[in-house]
Amino acid sequence: MAAHHHHQKQIAIIGAGISGLLACKYALSKDFNPTVFESQNGVGGLWANTLPTTKLQTPKSLYQFADFPWPESVATHFPTHDQVLDYLQSYADHFELTKHIKFNTKVIGIEYRGVAEEEVEAWALCGGNGDVFGSRGGKWEVEVSSDGSDKTEIFVADFVILCVGKYSGVPNIPEFPNGKGPEAFQGKVIHSTQYSGLEAGESKELVEGKRVAIVGFRKHAMDIAMECSEINGKGNPCRVLYRTERWSFPDWFPPLPCLYLSRFSELLIHKPGEGILLSLLATILSPIRWGISKFVEREIKRKHPLEKHGLVPKQSFLQDVSSCLIATVPDKFFDRVEEGSIVLKKAPSFSFCKEGIKVEGGDKDENKQQQPPLEADLVILATGFKGEKKLQDIFGSKRFREIISIANLYTSEMRSRWLAELLDGKFRLPAIEKMEADAANWDVFFKEYGGESYHRSSIATVHVWYNDQLCKDMGWNPRRKNGLWAELFEPYGPTDYVSP
Ligand SMILES: Cc1cc2nc3c(=O)[nH]c(=O)nc-3n(C[C@H](O)[C@H](O)[C@H](O)COP(=O)(O)OP(=O)(O)OC[C@H]3O[C@@H](n4cnc5c(N)ncnc54)[C@H](O)[C@@H]3O)c2cc1C
Repeated sequence: MAAHHHHQKQIAIIGAGISGLLACKYALSKDFNPTVFESQNGVGGLWANTLPTTKLQTPKSLYQFADFPWPESVATHFPTHDQVLDYLQSYADHFELTKHIKFNTKVIGIEYRGVAEEEVEAWALCGGNGDVFGSRGGKWEVEVSSDGSDKTEIFVADFVILCVGKYSGVPNIPEFPNGKGPEAFQGKVIHSTQYSGLEAGESKELVEGKRVAIVGFRKHAMDIAMECSEINGKGNPCRVLYRTERWSFPDWFPPLPCLYLSRFSELLIHKPGEGILLSLLATILSPIRWGISKFVEREIKRKHPLEKHGLVPKQSFLQDVSSCLIATVPDKFFDRVEEGSIVLKKAPSFSFCKEGIKVEGGDKDENKQQQPPLEADLVILATGFKGEKKLQDIFGSKRFREIISIANLYTSEMRSRWLAELLDGKFRLPAIEKMEADAANWDVFFKEYGGESYHRSSIATVHVWYNDQLCKDMGWNPRRKNGLWAELFEPYGPTDYVSP
């Protein structure tokens, strides 16, 4: 197949977090002309804006670029946020990506011009004839605003790669009935990103001596609770309101990659688009899948006093890992719970009142009588982000909606390489109908294993299967290990995909 005239093709990349850096690097590797638009003043995405205490949760061997190892100076398995940021910055420097990035430049709108929307709707093949760049001369108009100015500019691109991130940007603020939201509260309400944007001195000033309540029980919530309890001690405990108990790790559990990132672990799971044999095998082996999940749950319960604090989740570990809902609990978190400087409280739903927070539902006994409000001066909403909202805000057309999924460094790199090969003409996309059927298969998979959190579209438990599909498209051998034993039982990771 004839290669495209790359030097003429403009690729717009939105975001310079890990995904944007990778997309840029691999677009350059095929001689394209990429321009990265980044609203912040540096690379690294969310790693440029974390709490001082945030560390990498996955060991660095699983969070590394395939061809750019961590420097030897980083000895720990779990680098701090500034070590992560330095690593990302040195990646950008090493591959000379910075000159392609327009910093302080926010993309505020994207439109496809030159082909009528009805015609695009009717296409059976991507681009009309299967050419990703389109057969009808359509172009993307990317509207950007620089340095916060009102004046906008239009950048015309042949292809747009969205790397806007799911865990940054638009905060997810719960909705409340009239008069029961933050407006009813006499204290202060902020979102966790506002907190993580503060300097250490500023956050101390904000929290010191205040009655703090944190809503949420994931990474941000736990890290912030640690900081607050450090500042205020047990005399003035920090309250953490959570909706659902989750399986979270005390530290990295070494067998985990073998149990969830190997080919064998994937044989135990029904995979999207699998054949009858694999499906049968997954059914036969399902008791092992259940057993592994129970084993990990027991290990977590051994290390954390979950039973004592009524924190044993109803759902299985497999379900939480299938929807990427596993966080690493900060060191000594449960010591703080034991000493009383962090108080955990179940709050299936809540609203605001003048004095603080009214918890609705929760502990069965308390539920029978009206609970007094939880008095607070400061409420921090660690309630996550609305990743999909970012796309809805950018796209004029309604066609492009919830097409954002969770990414880590490993998946972002594989996707970027696959995309570069696609743009380079190495392979073509199947008919749109076929791709939609495939997406529907994945949806069935997400629903089967992710439970009520299936919309998080996590591929955590089928990384190898997912990469196999990408390898096949790219013409790479999907089997990357030496020998049957290693192929079956050794965990797969970024360095297995260094070269084609
Ligand atoms: C606290 C925390 C800890 C985490 N720890 C881990 C971990 O240990 N292991 C792991 O695998 N994953 C972890 N993650 C997941 C993390 O999301 C990914 O690993 C990864 O950093 C995401 O990178 P990204 O480039 O996709 O998105 P982001 O880092 O969010 O980058 C998106 C970039 O796009 C820019 N942008 C967005 N919209 C626009 C626009 N309209 N115009 C211009 N620029 C725009 C943003 O400014 C940002 O720089 C963690 C996430 C959080 C929040």
